[in-house]
Amino acid sequence: MMLALKTSGNGKLELVEESIPVLGMGQVLIQPVAVGICATDLEITHGTIDPAYVNYPITIGHEWSGVVVECGEGVKRINIGDRVVVQGIIPCEKCRECKGGHTNRCEVYDEYGFTRNGAASSAVCAQEHLVHVLTAKTSDESGALVEPAAVVTTGLLKANPSDNARILVIGDGTIGLLSAKLARAWKPSKVDLVGLRPEQGPLVAQADVDTFFLTSDVNDEKYDLVIEASGSKSGFEMSMTKMIRGGTLLVLGLIGHQETIPLAVDDLVNGDFTMYGSFGYTSKAWAKTVELLNSGELDLTFLVTHKFPLTQWELGVDALLNAPAPRGKVLLLP
Ligand SMILES: [Zn+2]
Ligand SMILES: [Zn+2]
Repeated sequence: MMLALKTSGNGKLELVEESIPVLGMGQVLIQPVAVGICATDLEITHGTIDPAYVNYPITIGHEWSGVVVECGEGVKRINIGDRVVVQGIIPCEKCRECKGGHTNRCEVYDEYGFTRNGAASSAVCAQEHLVHVLTAKTSDESGALVEPAAVVTTGLLKANPSDNARILVIGDGTIGLLSAKLARAWKPSKVDLVGLRPEQGPLVAQADVDTFFLTSDVNDEKYDLVIEASGSKSGFEMSMTKMIRGGTLLVLGLIGHQETIPLAVDDLVNGDFTMYGSFGYTSKAWAKTVELLNSGELDLTFLVTHKFPLTQWELGVDALLNAPAPRGKVLLLP
């Protein structure tokens, strides 16, 4: 038997005992070691997420790393004892979107922690081709951050900032901090960040930010690329004023289902702006993120500020909602 943190979307999470999944052909059994929780897990728990994206009852946990404990028949590339991450969105590989490389838009939606049991548990069963082995350079904590980092990588691959670009990140939460850190891989001349919480300062510094502005102190400097990661109306409004002519806006923050914002259309046209939305992550972005970590070029360990044993998951949820800044990623340790 094993433990699993489950919900049926009624606002409650429950740590229950259930049987260990039986491995099929080409599958591996992984014991999760670090599992991040985020606002999406709470939406799943409260049933406020679009029901088309969840199969209840479900074990939560879509940001995680683990160690392989068993290999099923036909598994060739993965070995027992490998430290791994598993790409969460499972592309069908057959639809038009998958064939075009847009696996984040696969027409057959399937994802660990949403439609399949996630990693807030003692064991997860995964298809070998979705498993990426971590090197000694990637910590378990960094591994647990591959999922949100791949979301940022997908957006950056789209916006594709040129060498020496000046980049502004709006938002001092996990996605904002990941954006600042990952943007370095595109060799910008500077990365500044605007936030609301001065107490996030130590994390912002570790994300290699050049200048950390509080919203109240923002000057009139403009940037080649602005990344909106605050998920707020005021953040989006600010982003429209911070681009140079010909600048690019990458929107990663969600402001709420059906919420709208007035847009100065003349500024968009006269500014010759390019705007990108970006959903989830592609297989390509997932692989690139793992590569950056495994090569030692990227280390995200600093972003983890809170850890709790899985059995104390209530403390984890409380930290996610209420812990004072500096607050980065909250992990559960199965
Ligand atoms: Zn998440
Ligand atoms: Zn597909």
